[in-house]
Amino acid sequence: MSLENLNTRRLHADRAMPIRVYNTLSRKKEEFVPLHGNRVSMFVCGLTPQDETHMGHAKTYVAFDVVARFLRHKGFHVFYLQNVTDIEDRIIEKMQKTGREWKDIVNQYFGEYLEVMDALRCNSVDVYAFATDYVDDIMAQIQGLIEKGHAYVAEDGSVYYDTTTFSGWGKLSGQKVEALRPGARIAIEERKRHPADFVLWRAQKPGEPAWGSPWGKGRPGWHIEDTAITIRHFGPQYDLHGGATELMFPHHEAEIAQAEAYTGITPFVKYWMHGGMVTVKGEEMHKSLGNYWPVKAALKLYEPEVIRFFLINVQYRGPIDFAPELLDEAKRSYERLRETMRTVEAERRRAPDAGKADHSLRVATAKATADFDAAMSDDFNTREAIAVIFEYGRVVNKALETGVGRGALDDAAQAYRTFAEVLGILEPAAEGADLVDGLLDLIVALREDARKRKDFATADRIRDALAAVGVILEDTRDGVRWKRK
Ligand SMILES: [Zn+2]
Repeated sequence: MSLENLNTRRLHADRAMPIRVYNTLSRKKEEFVPLHGNRVSMFVCGLTPQDETHMGHAKTYVAFDVVARFLRHKGFHVFYLQNVTDIEDRIIEKMQKTGREWKDIVNQYFGEYLEVMDALRCNSVDVYAFATDYVDDIMAQIQGLIEKGHAYVAEDGSVYYDTTTFSGWGKLSGQKVEALRPGARIAIEERKRHPADFVLWRAQKPGEPAWGSPWGKGRPGWHIEDTAITIRHFGPQYDLHGGATELMFPHHEAEIAQAEAYTGITPFVKYWMHGGMVTVKGEEMHKSLGNYWPVKAALKLYEPEVIRFFLINVQYRGPIDFAPELLDEAKRSYERLRETMRTVEAERRRAPDAGKADHSLRVATAKATADFDAAMSDDFNTREAIAVIFEYGRVVNKALETGVGRGALDDAAQAYRTFAEVLGILEPAAEGADLVDGLLDLIVALREDARKRKDFATADRIRDALAAVGVILEDTRDGVRWKRK
């Protein structure tokens, strides 16, 4: 194949390379084939807005943002749904502690979550579904489970799922019902028949928010909201369910038990994906342990792009053991990456038509694009994909030293745009940037003229004015060049 063909081919998302996904349900990598042609229904467990969004949340949501971006890049029509648990024990606790309305607490922390997500460029969610908007669906599902003999009403009006009636219990996590047999203390204060049973509907306690139901006033359990929301939007089966590893049991196990018992259709979800956790010195991040990192605190110290880069510099299944020094390291690496991309963008405008290194750069660009695609197609391996970009950057810098023409640099810039679009880092400059960059080139050239005339006052004035807006000048072999600080 000629290079031209290779370049044209890669401009269109190359669907020939199948995507392989590690499916927690089968415990192996499987080829990703959606249930309905090109459409992908994707659900990720969302936030319980009752405290600050921390780095653990950020890792999960950035990871699945990349998953959605890559699937879209490959030409799939992704509908990405995320729930919001807007009624839950911890929200009620906070309500009772502070005297605030539950809605007020939810609005505050969900608003902060959206701000953080926006800063981290997690912009691929189509719908945020609030649990309390689905109470009717939730009740219909619970009623159905009671009628089918999978759920029972306790004397206080709470409804529990009877895990002994579902033969598939434990198939996702490998945990068995027996593992929780008598002796398990969790059962004692609740009205369960079996320790593994879980609540579908929680009877109201004094002062708690409640909804009317056939079993008396109460509120939905946590697990049932997800199946109510996804069955409403996607029907009894869908393609991809994501979440953090710690949600696998019992939360995701409960979802399977509810949905499959309710609809009779198996599997409820075709691909289950679980993201690794963020720990601090090996311990779970927790306020009570004093090792809590709200994203907002990190955003005061680091650019959002650096945080995002840090979080995707592991494959999503891998854990991150967090330490601030690691963010410093990520900052240095990321700046190198970005510097190369910016140089490509800048040099492209002033490059000659052709250069000595054109051929080698074109070969490297085609290879990097293909390798990037292969890494991402292998269970969304962002770590490997970033390694490809670094490797490519070395070739790009060498080519720039040797001399490259505009065409080859245009291709390189296009490759960087693909990396940026998929990973959500290295975003190309905003619209109008070409004009700004062109004007900066002109100002620098005028300053050079002033220096040649020995008009150093003007030259210095230009240099200082540029510095004031964050543009610095440096001497290179090819004359004076500007760059952003
Ligand atoms: Zn969930």
